[in-house]
Amino acid sequence: MQPPPAFEPPARLLLGPGPSNVHPRVLRALGTPIVGHLDPAYLKLMDETRRMLQHVFQTKNELTLPISATGSAGMEACFVNLLEPGDEAVVCINGVFGNRMADIVERCGATLHKVEAPWGQIIDPADVEAALARCKNPKVVAIVHAETSTGAWQPLEEIGSLAQAVGALFLVDAVTSLAGCPVRVDEWQIDACYSGTQKCLSCPPGLSPLTFSPRAVEVLRKRARKVQSWYLDLTMIQAYWGEERVYHHTAPISMSFALYEALRLVLEEGLEPRWERHRRNHEALKAGLDAIGLGIASQAGHQLWQLNSVSIPAGVDDAAVRRRLLNEFGIEIGAGLGPLKGKTWRIGLMGESSSAASVFCVLHALERVLPEAGHGVDPGAALSAAQRAYAQG
Ligand SMILES: *Cc1c(COP(=O)(O)O)cnc(C)c1O
Repeated sequence: MQPPPAFEPPARLLLGPGPSNVHPRVLRALGTPIVGHLDPAYLKLMDETRRMLQHVFQTKNELTLPISATGSAGMEACFVNLLEPGDEAVVCINGVFGNRMADIVERCGATLHKVEAPWGQIIDPADVEAALARCKNPKVVAIVHAETSTGAWQPLEEIGSLAQAVGALFLVDAVTSLAGCPVRVDEWQIDACYSGTQKCLSCPPGLSPLTFSPRAVEVLRKRARKVQSWYLDLTMIQAYWGEERVYHHTAPISMSFALYEALRLVLEEGLEPRWERHRRNHEALKAGLDAIGLGIASQAGHQLWQLNSVSIPAGVDDAAVRRRLLNEFGIEIGAGLGPLKGKTWRIGLMGESSSAASVFCVLHALERVLPEAGHGVDPGAALSAAQRAYAQG
């Protein structure tokens, strides 16, 4: 067989729900020569990675490491390590990712108690309290911090306290929130938390940072049965990350180099300035969209900085606009999912992609494309409004 031509990716501005654009330093790290996964130099990199992840998660948890697969594996790892058949779990569902958690809970053979809210809205703590009252012995309360499918930003502290009050573990999806807005694992009493590399950490997809509190580790230790997943069994993965360095699976070495560099970039910038950057760019995008009659679809007061769910104006062809942004401007934005399909666009401003340049590019492209799609705009209105928002800070 003749080999196909070399792959030459088109240049893209990645403003979808992930992956986000990757810093050149991280791309260079991917090309670093390989060492063995038990090489002393690699073991040192693992220790530094853990220390940096502890800082980014704002935790002292000893069990903090990246799972060797994308964010979904972090989700699955949390549930399969904490739940056993017959356990009860409360899962909050207001979008795609809560639904996935519920699916995994059932696959674990646990009893599922759902707490639901309409897509785009946040979960009401009173509904969690009511669900807990219906449980005999709830083991886990699970929730998504940043619902990437809807743009809703879930407050966590009150729900965390409800979980703690009944002795349940508090499990949080921070895939899109980590490094884009505050995530305070220890302060918010989160027992199990996972993220992904390709959202606000701006690393290619492939690793899922995870952290377990001492309480969660205790539950893991006291399991009656082995963890159902061999690959995601944290007792064995931890043995490789701990003093013993017992081989479990070969670490994805190049991805670890990339995450190490991505975390160094986060620390160089500082967590708080990084969150502030995400806030400023969101405010400017929102002001620009508003000036051309495009509103944010998620609940007012709970709109994510890093994922903007934008209502598509009546009569505008969702897919045609996204196609033109991609083909003519090299800009990728996301489509709506589930009940929001055809009703929203998802404009991500995550990590490296969260910049004034991104905001002006996408607003300009929309100003150009929307009139021909049937939604008239005042040329330059969005750009001026964004500029004014930046001037106000
Ligand atoms: C992207 C995402 C995931 C899944 O991560 P993958 O890297 O696609 O496996 C899970 N939860 C949320 C909230 C996400 O945004």
